[in-house]
Formats: sequence, structure tokens, C-alpha cells
Amino acid sequence: MTREYQGIPVSDGIAIARAVVLRPAEIQPDPTPIQPEQAQAELAAFAAALEAAREQIQALYDSTCRRLGEERAEIFSAHLSVLEDPVLEETIQDKITQDHRSAVCAIAQGVEEIAAMFQGLQDPYLQERAADIRDVGRRILENAAGVPRVELSSLEEDSVVIARDLTPSETVTMDLSHTMGFVTELGGRTSHTAILSRSLEIPAVVGVSGLLDHIAGGDTVILDALEGRLLVDPTDDQVEDYRRRQSEFLAQRQALNALRDLPAQTRDGRVFSLCANIGGPGDVASAHKYGAEGVGLYRTEFLYMNNTHFPTEEEQFEAYRVVAAEMGKDRPVIIRTLDIGGDKELPYFQFDQEDNPFLGWRAIRMCLDREDVFKTQLRAILRASIFGKLLIMFPMIISLEEFQQAKALLETCKEELRAEGKSFDENIQTGIMVETPAAVMMADVLARHVDFFSIGTNDLTQYTLAVDRGNTRIAHRYDPLHPAVLRAIERVIQASHAAGKWTGMCGEFAGDPRATVLLAGMGLDEFSMTASSIPKIKQLLRSLDCTAARTLAKQALAASSVTEVRELLNLN
Ligand code: PEP
Ligand code: MG
Repeated sequence: MTREYQGIPVSDGIAIARAVVLRPAEIQPDPTPIQPEQAQAELAAFAAALEAAREQIQALYDSTCRRLGEERAEIFSAHLSVLEDPVLEETIQDKITQDHRSAVCAIAQGVEEIAAMFQGLQDPYLQERAADIRDVGRRILENAAGVPRVELSSLEEDSVVIARDLTPSETVTMDLSHTMGFVTELGGRTSHTAILSRSLEIPAVVGVSGLLDHIAGGDTVILDALEGRLLVDPTDDQVEDYRRRQSEFLAQRQALNALRDLPAQTRDGRVFSLCANIGGPGDVASAHKYGAEGVGLYRTEFLYMNNTHFPTEEEQFEAYRVVAAEMGKDRPVIIRTLDIGGDKELPYFQFDQEDNPFLGWRAIRMCLDREDVFKTQLRAILRASIFGKLLIMFPMIISLEEFQQAKALLETCKEELRAEGKSFDENIQTGIMVETPAAVMMADVLARHVDFFSIGTNDLTQYTLAVDRGNTRIAHRYDPLHPAVLRAIERVIQASHAAGKWTGMCGEFAGDPRATVLLAGMGLDEFSMTASSIPKIKQLLRSLDCTAARTLAKQALAASSVTEVRELLNLN
């Protein structure tokens, strides 16, 4: 009998193959207290396990660098930095000396404590760091317990790999020539498995809870990573049906890839600019792969969040320089200055408890109060600006004064750099994210001062509709197709054009195929999205007639409800 399981699809595609099930060896730490005189020996055992882990990870780093390049190996430098963290080492040592635990028990408990602490943080990116800590911790534990590691580096036949949670080191060392898909019980959209599978274009579904209890190695499976479904022991008819869907999917992907070097031009000749949203230098390859004409949003906060301290000017300069250089002079990169606070926390900086963090001390508000932090970033961006074409964008602006204060600090940084004899792009452009109703209402005023707008619909929708973007209970009310949001978007575009400026969009709405016709009809100039969404949006734009899009947009703007907008778009 076919069994069906549901999870979260994180990388498109369909795979039909045998299941390889990864069940890590059980290590049962003995909680019996040790005698105080045994502590030295247990400390030494821990030190040896730690050192062995360091050597293994270094070797993985070196070999991955050689095979797949430095970028793919980055995960292992992150692992080495977990090992460098004195808190982990001291926590485990304390458990041996003060709680009288064996090395194995102290490692298991210490690692779990620290990982759970990260997992308990609100920010999804810091939560995912818990996976790194558990991965490194597991390695130390296996070394201490003398248990060999399960390796996936050579698979005998085409396989769908099924695991509780694939660790980053497992995914990197995996025999990819035979890996047709991934399924995990744990993980979310931003987990390493998800990110890696997308960049390798391997279908993946995560979050299938309890799966390992119901599946055996060798079972035939169909992985439908378009719908997030796993079929175990499918019927012949199902296999046939999915083979057909698989070839359709591959043909469609090929057709989209063929658009890579064609312009996003409508049938009647209007050309739009399609750009990528990135989180760091690691995403530039994907931007190129999908033919991005630039970066419409570089979310710099990751450099701050995946760190142990506020990144130095040099650290930031290096990241921005790499992105600028790899995109080149013809592909502009919009760097968004630090957008932290709200739901984004920092491991090394305590934000005060706030009743309404989304309305609180976040983004530009924090930066204007912490000039030291802000100026460090502005200096780094300016210095990197000569390596490509950089633009600066300030988030969460609600008033002209905020923009002017930010610009004044930028001017101070320019003067400092001139005095130090350091070069930068004197004509660097500055713009703002329009993500607050205040910025929408003041768009005509702001447009006279900025070089460009970029509409952040993720926040603009939440603030316009007063619907928390992370609250699942009211998620059905969070809808950028609401005429109020559409009217806000239109107003901003009109205001910018009246002042001779351009407007982009870097919220998720820009990459939403349902919105393309409306946004084109409203005259949005630039669409910025996850790079892999670019081909689909380009295909839609190329099939559009701008005059018809304008008429439809007008009707949507005159609609009295979301339902009416949906009806116009044939979505109901
Ligand atoms: C937005 O608010 O639309 C946006 C792009 O910013 P973020 O999602 O990072 O808040
Ligand atoms: Mg935002």
C-alpha cells in the first residue's frame, strides 16, 4: 500500500528513486556521576575529542575547497568558529569538573544546552545556527564515544536521501551524482539543507515529522517537491504519472533557463529591470545564474547576525567589495544599511524588551542612535564602491529628517575618507525603502530628495493593514493584494515618476507571479526577488501587453475589496 507524507517543499522538482535512510548511531550517555579523581582523565578525553573534531573539520574544509570551491566550504569555517567558542568548551568542562559528568555525558548535555539556547531565540537565522552547533557537537560526541560517522560520500545508485536532519557537513560531502532528492524530518525554509538543495537544484522537502519510523532503506519513493509530498511504495500508475510530471517540469525549467540573456521586455516594448535579493557574497553566483541585472536588495543584517561581534569596517568592506566586484560596473548593487531589531536579534547585543518590537527601536532608528555602528558600515560601503556600482538604501524611513540625518552621516564619512586619502564613488546614489505608511503619504516630498525608492512590501503590507507578518493566526488577513496596499504602491510609483526618479520593489510581492501584471501596469521600474524567481517573472513580463496591464491595474486600484482584485486576476 502506498503511504503518503506531507512536508514543506524547499527546492522544486520531482525525484523517483530508492530511499537511503540515515539513522545516526545511538549514543546513550551514562549520567552516573564520576569520582572527582576521574575528572582529569575525562577532561583529557574531551580535549582529545575536540582536537580530533578540529582536525576532521579542517580536512573537510580543505577537501571541499579543492573539490567545490571556497564558497561551498564556508560551512566548515563556520564549524571551526563553533569550536573556537569558549562558551561551549567551558560549559562542557564545567559539567565534568563541577557536575561530575563523564566526557561523553558532559558533551551531550553541554551541546544541547547551547543549541537549545540558540533555538529559543526569535530570529529564524539564529535558530538555524542551532543546527551547526548540534552538527559540530555530534562530531565531538562521536569522537569521545568512539563511534564511527555514517558517510554519504559514495552512494551505489540513484537515491533520495532521508534523514532526521541533514547536517551541513553531510550535505557538502554527499555523493551528489547519485543524490536525486532530500527529505528531512526537521528543518525550515532557511535551513542549510534548504539553501544548499536550492543552489544545487536538487528537489527537497523538509519538516516531514515522524518519517523515519515509517520508512526503510531500499523502499521506492516518489518525492514531489513541488507539492511537498513523499509517496512511499507507489503504484505503477503513480510512477508513470510522476514520470510524466517530471519531464514536464524539466522541460519548463529548460524553457525558463533559455530566457536568461533575454530582456524583460513586454510584447509592446516596455523594458523592466529584474534584480536579485541577496544576503551576502554567497548569493552572487545564483544572481548570475538566473540572469539578474543587478542586486535590488543586499540584506546586510546577516553579516551582523552570523557573527560574534559587530562586524568591523574591514570585515564589511571585504564582503561588500566581493559583491561589488563580482556583479561588476554594469550591474548595480543596492546595499541596504543595517535593518536589525523587530524580529531580528544579535547574539552579542541585548535589545531591550519592547511591547511592540516591530514598532520599536529597529533599523534606521537604531542606526541613527548608534552612530559608531552606522558610520562603520557607511565607511565600508563607500570604500567598496569603487569596485563596482553600489547604491545605498536606508530602511524603515518615516520622515525626511531621518533621511537627511542619514545622508549627513554619510557626508561625514566621505569627508573622513577624503582626509585619509581613501577613494570612493563621489556620486554614490542614495535611496530609501518605502515600507511604512508614513513614507507612502510623504512620497512626493521624499521623492524630491532621494535618488530612488524601493518598496518593501513585506513590511508595508504589515503596517498598512496592521497585520503582524509573523502571526499565523491572522496570516489570512496579510495580503498585499488588498486594494489599500495596491493604492500605496501606486502612489509611491507616481510620486517618484513625477519627480523624475525611479521605483523598485524588493518585498516578496515583486517575485509573486500573481502580482506581475498589476505591478507592470502601475509602472514599477525594477523588480527585485529571490534569484530563482527571476525566469518565471521574466516569462510573464515577456508575455504581457503593457496597455492591457495598465487597464487591469486601474481596475484593481478601483476595486472595493481583495475579493474583487482576486476576481480580476482570476484567482478565486
Ligand atoms: C520588506 O519589508 O519588504 C523587505 C524587503 O525587508 P525585510 O523583508 O528584510 O524586512
Ligand atoms: Mg522590511
